[in-house]
Amino acid sequence: MSELKIFLGPPGAGKGTQAKKVALEFGLAHISTGDMLRDHISNKTDLGKIAKSVMDEGKLVSDDLVIAMLVERLGSNDCKKGAILDGFPRTLPQAKSLEEIKNKFPVSKVFVFEVDEEELVQRILLRGQTSGRSDDTEESIKVRFEIYSQDTEPLIDFYNQQDKVVKINAVGDIDEIYHNIAKHFN
Ligand code: ADP
Repeated sequence: MSELKIFLGPPGAGKGTQAKKVALEFGLAHISTGDMLRDHISNKTDLGKIAKSVMDEGKLVSDDLVIAMLVERLGSNDCKKGAILDGFPRTLPQAKSLEEIKNKFPVSKVFVFEVDEEELVQRILLRGQTSGRSDDTEESIKVRFEIYSQDTEPLIDFYNQQDKVVKINAVGDIDEIYHNIAKHFN
């Protein structure tokens, strides 16, 4: 059984930064669907061609495509000890797709990153200056927040009903935030 830990939170909340650290420390796979999609774009795959314009606008890539990509990824050897999902699920159908594979990949905890929106916009715009990410623009950020509150935030309730939610105050010192997350592992 390979347990899945989900990192859920708005764009810019620091999920990726923390997921990398935790995965390294605990020998888990770090699966960022955003990174995977960006790899597809750089490699000019069919999926990358479809994803590029959708992502630049700040919208979501279709559930079918992302779910297929994720399920394939979970088949890799490095996921046997478990994985951190960073940026997945983002919609109810995506969360339900995980229910279908729960015998092999049960979701054990869902870390919800809490940061207020003003801080987030500043972080993302700052990141945009160095990341080269074509979706770190003001227009795209606005769309991403709307989609987050419409499609992704309801997942907090979904996982609350299963008693899996751990809230994380994601403002402040990176190491302190890391510590608050890491104490829930093992
Ligand atoms: P951020 O958390 O800053 O929005 P990500 O790297 O997680 O950055 O995601 C970037 C973009 O990739 C999203 O805006 C979306 O277009 C696409 N994407 C990533 N994960 C998913 C997903 N699970 N479902 C649909 N689209 C996704």
